[in-house]
Amino acid sequence: MARRRPKPDSEGGPTLRSVRAAVIEVECMLCDRRDRLERKALVAQFGVHASFARLRRRFAVGCELMCHPDGDKCGTRFPCLGQAANQE
Ligand SMILES: [Zn+2]
Repeated sequence: MARRRPKPDSEGGPTLRSVRAAVIEVECMLCDRRDRLERKALVAQFGVHASFARLRRRFAVGCELMCHPDGDKCGTRFPCLGQAANQE
């Protein structure tokens, strides 16, 4: 039985590695949530190859819109990534 070796992160898109800012902001306009996260702490917890798609889901936990019956309606995003990277 061939077990697939788990990739560091299969999400694609930007990872922690692509951001150099010491502090990474995360916000959800819809929920009126805003947080400042230390990049160092995130790297320690998730690894430098963790994608923002994955981090986004982590930080959207507790967002009611994330678990919407119609799917993910949460507006959690990372302003540091710019508009384009947050579209996915
Ligand atoms: Zn939200």
